[in-house]
Amino acid sequence: METLSPQLKKTPPCISRRDAERRSLLTEEELLKMHLQPTADPVACITKSDGTVVYYYNPNKVKEAPPAHWYERPTAPKRELPAEPEAVTVSTEAGELRRISGRRAELLGYFSAEALFRMYYEPVEPPVACLVRKSGEVVLLYDKATCRRLPLPCVKCGNASRYRSKLCYDCYSEELAERRAKGDAKRAKKYGNDPKRVLFFDLELTGVFERDEILSVSIINGLGEVVFDSYTRPVRNRKWNRTEKIHGITPAMVQDAPTLAEIAPRLRDIVDGADRMIAYGTSTDYSHLRKIYSTKTERNQLKDKLVDCAAEFSRFVVEHEIALSHHSLTDAMAHFNLDWNGIAHTSAADAQACRLVFEALFPHYYESEDA
Ligand SMILES: [Zn+2]
Repeated sequence: METLSPQLKKTPPCISRRDAERRSLLTEEELLKMHLQPTADPVACITKSDGTVVYYYNPNKVKEAPPAHWYERPTAPKRELPAEPEAVTVSTEAGELRRISGRRAELLGYFSAEALFRMYYEPVEPPVACLVRKSGEVVLLYDKATCRRLPLPCVKCGNASRYRSKLCYDCYSEELAERRAKGDAKRAKKYGNDPKRVLFFDLELTGVFERDEILSVSIINGLGEVVFDSYTRPVRNRKWNRTEKIHGITPAMVQDAPTLAEIAPRLRDIVDGADRMIAYGTSTDYSHLRKIYSTKTERNQLKDKLVDCAAEFSRFVVEHEIALSHHSLTDAMAHFNLDWNGIAHTSAADAQACRLVFEALFPHYYESEDA
């Protein structure tokens, strides 16, 4: 597998995190989350307190990452340590050892036996250096990389070693069973919702940033009837090559479509008349859909109606220990053996798919107890 860390001839300029945000630069990790990979050298970097360097890339110079890279975390190269001051050795119980500063020890990953024990590590090799405290006390330092990892105790019973979520197998199983029972009860409940007032929606966007715009809006109700389905013409973005490959919406397709401002009154009517607004992953969609409202109160009212189908599916997967590493809408459809009605990644098909997944999770959403 090719390495993800950049092999650079020249280090890019160091900037602040705020600068990176302002310039919409992205790290390799952030790009990977979108299944993208940089095609050009980083344009800037920041140095974290532990000496590691994080590189930032121009989000317009990217290509689709091969699936093998999607769930990787890129490892940043360690920054070169500053030149070592003149070596001073100290005579200790473990022999002559190089004396270093606490800051340098931290950068090198050297710790005292006590500190290592608190991190559940145990030295097996002799100390590699020492530091001298103000009190004159000499502290032996061990290289954490050569230490043995001690089994971590369960945070609940404190006995058996950890299995998952800091709990031992028994405590984890017990907790999961409780969570599952609660989740199952929540999903099996009769909610008595009016299917005409439960709306499923999906948006297609020019990109993932705040300055990006909506290209299409699809809203259907709990009966599967189309309530709203329209392209929208962005007013600031002229092209969106990257996302076009995903949703297939070209500038020509939206050139005669209304703008978001033009459809906002109709959308407000629809949203105002809904009890629930359900989408598969609500955070990005919300940040764009809220623009149809001008006041905070109205935006909060919309927020209160939102239900994230993706979060509900993830919860279901975890509680039932289903072997799924990713919880996309496609994964959810496949898990429940549901058929796509239309082309995946169009807002109309995604809204319908979201409805089907949600109803598989909450089969009695429209039934009421006294019915
Ligand atoms: Zn336990």
